[in-house]
Amino acid sequence: MKQKKFLLPESEIPTHYFNIQAVMPNKPLPFLNPATKEPLKAEDLYPIFCKACADQELNQTDVWIPIPEEVREQYAAYRCTPLVRAYELEKALGTPAHIYFKNESVSPAGSHKLNSALAQAYYAKEQGVTNLTTETGAGQWGGALSYATKKFGIDCAVYMVKVSYEQKPYRRSIMQTFGAAITPSPSMSTRAGKDILTKNPTDQGSLGSAISEAIELAVSTPNCKYALGSVLNHVCLHQTVIGLEAEKQMELAGEYPDIVIACFGGGSNFSGIAYPFMRHNILDGKKTRFIAAEPYSCPKLTKGKFEYDFGDEAGMTPLLPMYTLGHTFKPASIHAGGLRYHGAGVIMSQLLKDGFMEAVDIEQLDSFKAGVLFAQTEGIIPAPESCHAIAATITEALKCKESGEAKTILFNLSGHGFVDMSAYDSYFSGEMQNYHVSEADLARFITSADELNAK
Ligand SMILES: *Cc1c(COP(=O)(O)O)cnc(C)c1O
Repeated sequence: MKQKKFLLPESEIPTHYFNIQAVMPNKPLPFLNPATKEPLKAEDLYPIFCKACADQELNQTDVWIPIPEEVREQYAAYRCTPLVRAYELEKALGTPAHIYFKNESVSPAGSHKLNSALAQAYYAKEQGVTNLTTETGAGQWGGALSYATKKFGIDCAVYMVKVSYEQKPYRRSIMQTFGAAITPSPSMSTRAGKDILTKNPTDQGSLGSAISEAIELAVSTPNCKYALGSVLNHVCLHQTVIGLEAEKQMELAGEYPDIVIACFGGGSNFSGIAYPFMRHNILDGKKTRFIAAEPYSCPKLTKGKFEYDFGDEAGMTPLLPMYTLGHTFKPASIHAGGLRYHGAGVIMSQLLKDGFMEAVDIEQLDSFKAGVLFAQTEGIIPAPESCHAIAATITEALKCKESGEAKTILFNLSGHGFVDMSAYDSYFSGEMQNYHVSEADLARFITSADELNAK
């Protein structure tokens, strides 16, 4: 029988995170204070984020950052995650390519997001923080942080976009099961929420207003900090455990990837699988291709512009140098909620600009078609986000079929889709559609970012 799974024992859980900032030929540009346009220092972030995370965010010198033993112990509940050779998918496609996937869906939260949630909850506890607050849209990040804070004895307050709170009751129940307090946003518990509700009592909420409420609570409550689940450098840093394990597992399989693929929302699971391999492109002349798969309806990497923009809709964050569609861009309500973000993290943006990675955009219907084939061949129902990575993998595998090349492709399965079956229902019933952004809309929203840069 052919070996299918490449497993590592708990003792092989990485001891250090890999900080790609330290080896990048061109470092990311600084974050800017929107009022003064001065570069931000780590201290400027201390009122909002835990100190360790703020320091990691701007660390451009240490290549390896130790993973606290307490975090490694919590990782052992699900790490090392399996690396799997997708023989059945290869067979169905008739491709000579060797397809591997790293299975991050086995975490208690069902996705890779727990890798950073556990680190952030630990750093909070270590600093004496007693409460963490965050926002969640679709609920994956909220679920991961709820579990992580429970493990480290910290209270967790999640502002959940009201419309999701009402339409996604199971994600809400997952967070409640792990012990978090969930507030539908906008709420009367903050000034930001009150302002919105006074103007419009039936406001259904948005990620922007949930962020405003979570940050307001963090800065106005003693021993309370704010935690984010994607985009930021420290989050991407924590995710590198994925690629560091995969590197050892590919060695067990006796292969090295020609192509590495992940879906792309803010960029954290892409960073996680890609950076450890990318360091060999930067330092050792390897020629692996890295492909980020984004939705056609939210194409910041393929159609966005590299410039300074706000990280949030409300314009409360520092200005970030990134590929963006403009912070006022409103993505279509595709089922892959985790991919609906207007910008890309600053590290990925610099790497894309410098040619270290590529991006493709995937239509919603193609993503589900790919996800269904993967479920039928490999036995795991993928998250709608992960379906984008699978679709991009299938495209590359079919190119191999045409050319007859037996390339080695590795993709990240960022999560499972068990809480997203209503999205699959919509696909099977024929209700689901593709969303296209018009050139006029793209131009209009990007102009809003242009104006910021001109000031
Ligand atoms: C949140 C999420 C994503 C997108 O976020 P990234 O930071 O780009 O990784 C992808 N897949 C799953 C399952 C998610 O929960």
